[in-house]
Amino acid sequence: MPPESGRPLTALAIRNAVRAGRLTAAQACRAALDAIDVHEPRIHAYISICADRAMEAAHRLDADPARVARLPLAGVPVAIKDNLCTAGLRTTAGSRMLEAFVPPYDATAVRRLEEAGAIIVGKTNCDEFAMGASTEYSAFGPTRNPVDPSRTPGGSSGGSAATVASGALPIALGSDTGGSVRQPASFCGVVGLKPTYGRVSRYGLIAFASSLDQVGVLAGTAEDAALALQAIAGADAADATAAGRPVPDYAAALEHPVAGLRVGVPRALVADEVDEEVRDRFDRACEALRAFGLDVRDVSLPHARHAVPVYHLVASAEASANLARYDGVRYGLRAPHDGSVIGMNAATRDAGFGRELKRRIMLGTYALSAGYYEAYYARGQRVRALIRADFEAAFREVDFVALPTAPTPAFRLGERLDNPVQMYLADLFTAGPSLAGLPAISIPCGETREGLPVGLQLVGRMFDEAGLLRVAHAFETGAAGRNDGA
Ligand code: GLN
Repeated sequence: MPPESGRPLTALAIRNAVRAGRLTAAQACRAALDAIDVHEPRIHAYISICADRAMEAAHRLDADPARVARLPLAGVPVAIKDNLCTAGLRTTAGSRMLEAFVPPYDATAVRRLEEAGAIIVGKTNCDEFAMGASTEYSAFGPTRNPVDPSRTPGGSSGGSAATVASGALPIALGSDTGGSVRQPASFCGVVGLKPTYGRVSRYGLIAFASSLDQVGVLAGTAEDAALALQAIAGADAADATAAGRPVPDYAAALEHPVAGLRVGVPRALVADEVDEEVRDRFDRACEALRAFGLDVRDVSLPHARHAVPVYHLVASAEASANLARYDGVRYGLRAPHDGSVIGMNAATRDAGFGRELKRRIMLGTYALSAGYYEAYYARGQRVRALIRADFEAAFREVDFVALPTAPTPAFRLGERLDNPVQMYLADLFTAGPSLAGLPAISIPCGETREGLPVGLQLVGRMFDEAGLLRVAHAFETGAAGRNDGA
């Protein structure tokens, strides 16, 4: 490489250069690894870097130009959140419990990226089992925000967002259960796409809350997010919840005009507890959409303000069930114990899980227990249905709902560690769309006076990733006006 403009190369540019023979996969991969080495001491975005494996894969690609010419992600270096299984490559989920776990198989999304020609250079840092909003709950130390290393990159896909924001590589996979792709994207100033629940297979994604978990994409541009989604989306025999509906051509969808599309803004919700500068940048983003010819109007989501407590009930209940498997018997850690089975379970879980995990397992177990199930879990599910119905009603009037991605810009490391509820409120605007299963994207929409990125979140109808990417692309390139009447 290095890019002449000083801006990092996009996946599209790398792919085109590799296919045209102007760049080798090995060169692209080497450049990414070198850039990672430069940034890593400052931001710690990775749990594992697999330089040798990556260079070998790159050389294999370069040896087969006929194949390279067909690959949509030929030679594109990518990073993978460390809760997605990679065969033969340690996968920790940010936890001591899986510190030495080497999966025997690839997650479907990982396999599909590699089949498309992408080169995996490393596994990114994340909150333990994806539970958190700052990457500070990782057992391997926090990631720092490349924009301002005294601040968090957000979480739980903080390592993926930070490495893309650093410019080291154009695309990283993350996972989003209640905001974990979108919120770090917003904190780091990159694009974060959470597809519809079921758009991307969850096979090989280490389970947190199975009715919410979805693999997502962090990228520098909407166009690159589209390329990545194209590679990973679609049905999978290994995951019954992966939807069978056909995957549209996302790159083609980017070119469709946006003028006339309707965007709903839930004003009452946005008025609540939002940082002044975030609200200002959000208002300006809505003005920009209007200037591009979109019809921006008010909508109401009356139950959306309950999203955070409902999310934490549902997600913790599911997590408590999913995490029961880490018992010292099957795989992962087995801590020294007193010789009894119960003793082994208890010692392993005590040593393997961090404080936040224990908090959530206790909350979830409580919410599911006899006598409390009706009062907590079942009621949570009913409010979830109301939140979903609000969105359905809104989508009868508009094509997208716009919200800030997060109520604040990136906060300082350590600032919320003593206050879990403050930490949970980072998901004020992202948890609702997750509970409803809807696709949503975060795109950079300006900076605060201190230079901290702010994200605009667009939420779409079920399976309308194409629409989201199209509006995001128009917003990003400022090209929407040109489409009007063109
Ligand atoms: N921040 C949220 C939580 O702590 C969301 C996490 C996620 O989406 N994985 O659960």
